[in-house]
Amino acid sequence: MRYTNYKNIIRLLIFLIAGVVIFLLVNQWIYIREALHGKEIELLQKTPFFQQNSKRVLKDWHDAEAMARDAARSGLGEHGKPAYITNLSKRKLERELRKKNGFNALLSDMISVNRSLPDIRDQGCQKLKYFADLPTVSIIIPFYNEHFSALVRSLHSIINRTPPELIKEIILVDDFSDVANLKKPLDEYVEQHFPKVEIIRFRKRQGLIAARLAGAVKAVADVLVFMDAHVEANYNWLPPLLHEIVLNKRTAVCPMIDVIEDATFEYTAQDEGARGAFDWILDYKRLPLLESDKKNRTKPFENPIMAGGLFAISREWFWKLDGYDEGLDIWGGEQYELSFKIWMCGGRLLDVPCSRVGHIFRSDDWTGVSEDRKEDYLHKNYKRVAEVWMDDYKYYLYKHARGIYEKIDAGDLTKQLALREKLHCKSFKWFIENVAFDLVKIYPPRGTADFAYGQVRSVGAPELCLDTLGRPDYRVIKVNECEPTSIFPSFRQDWSLSEDHDLRMRGEEYCLQTANRKPNSKVLLYDCSYGNKDQLWYYNRRHKWLVYGGKRHLCLEAHPASKYVVVNRCRTNFPLMQWDFANVNDTLLDSYFETMP
Ligand code: UDP
Ligand code: MN
Repeated sequence: MRYTNYKNIIRLLIFLIAGVVIFLLVNQWIYIREALHGKEIELLQKTPFFQQNSKRVLKDWHDAEAMARDAARSGLGEHGKPAYITNLSKRKLERELRKKNGFNALLSDMISVNRSLPDIRDQGCQKLKYFADLPTVSIIIPFYNEHFSALVRSLHSIINRTPPELIKEIILVDDFSDVANLKKPLDEYVEQHFPKVEIIRFRKRQGLIAARLAGAVKAVADVLVFMDAHVEANYNWLPPLLHEIVLNKRTAVCPMIDVIEDATFEYTAQDEGARGAFDWILDYKRLPLLESDKKNRTKPFENPIMAGGLFAISREWFWKLDGYDEGLDIWGGEQYELSFKIWMCGGRLLDVPCSRVGHIFRSDDWTGVSEDRKEDYLHKNYKRVAEVWMDDYKYYLYKHARGIYEKIDAGDLTKQLALREKLHCKSFKWFIENVAFDLVKIYPPRGTADFAYGQVRSVGAPELCLDTLGRPDYRVIKVNECEPTSIFPSFRQDWSLSEDHDLRMRGEEYCLQTANRKPNSKVLLYDCSYGNKDQLWYYNRRHKWLVYGGKRHLCLEAHPASKYVVVNRCRTNFPLMQWDFANVNDTLLDSYFETMP
């Protein structure tokens, strides 16, 4: 009896201890995970602001009075209505200033710097409350030769539509502009109107990335907000952003970027919203919203790649990520670097539909900012980002650029590679498969977008396949005995109906073409030349034809006796004109004519 009692007490004790250990483990899980993850990552949640913010009372941050004041305004461009200059004598000046700025700068001068905007948020946003206790922000705005009235309208819109207690400071960074009114007159204007604004001035042009970094170095608030110098902040834009950062400090957030039309200053939504992405020359692209995101139009949704100019991030997380790579010059690629870093190193990026900021997208005829850099800084930037973050996927980029990157020296990347190591960041494959999971399908890299590939076998003479006869420089194509494997044969029999709509040696630059269009023209192998109508081919699945020259209806035909292949007028149910392509991508082929050059 005593013995069992003793055993029970031991059991009870073990249970209790195990219970306490499990409780502690669960409770401290994020800390433990971080500790396992590498000691260098300090615990973001430990910082003072986020500790004191445990109460989490919500409040309505709308400034109803200011909104009512705005609603009563009338005049040119008010409520974001399209505006026009009617004075004909000003046409020439209007045109000149439009070209110089990429937007209607003369019209900008005529519209109030305090103009009202339409509240185009989803109606649900008006009712949403956010934490009463939000962190403060340092707003960083780089500018280079920006038009004065557009620049100060950006500042007024921010001041007018942001709760003053949330703005610690606004830091303008003058990237060595050479426009006179951006010097003393801007200083004076700022002094008069904006006590919280300070201006850092560069002594030489260093580009927007260096300018943002300089602002960030100076900033002292909990959260950094980056903006362009030609924006207009809309109603209640800031609280929804900060709310998400409080919930998870490794969240970087973007407002929805609305369009301020370059000619009329009309304020509209871009579209229903989209997820950011890129194609394989690193042009910025957009992916559709997910069905789940469409269900709730006020809910923040995950965004693989930020557009770049407008976002908020905790100051600590930004610096934990080493800010931007200082080797990025002037402009471009920095949105990829930061987005990859954020996702791959344990953070996330959200678009917040209830936060909206308008941006002037410059017109296509903009003459652009002057370039004093001789080198190709954009591709150098891209190469730096690719080398550090994109793993083997960088080869897609290099392959697309046809030799540009081979000539570019990306410079020293030790610091960036060390950061990736230190933060135990995930692979690019992980990013592509988990975050931008539909990117490759929607923006396929070259070579993965073949309409059909592999062996091309004659139906009339099924032992014969299209063959280069072993020498890629051999110009006449024949049919030859099929190799045993049809999907991955040797290069002699490996063909692709490529995304360029040609029929080529798979992965190579040799395309099928005939010398002329006479009956029985032999088919030869030429260097591929993009958009060449004489290299257009189509695979007609119903008739099994390889149709030559787009719609001109010549068809590839085998001559088993001579083994030559020729083109002739297409005939139905004629087996020597029928071919089996080893692998056909039906979905892509369905859209063959839509993607025709
Ligand atoms: N900018 C800068 N230095 C540069 C290029 C741009 O300070 O060399 C500023 C520019 O004035 C703007 C911001 O950086 O406030 C973003 O540039 P831009 O609007 O041209 O980029 P986009 O919106 O076209 O991506
Ligand atoms: Mn811009």
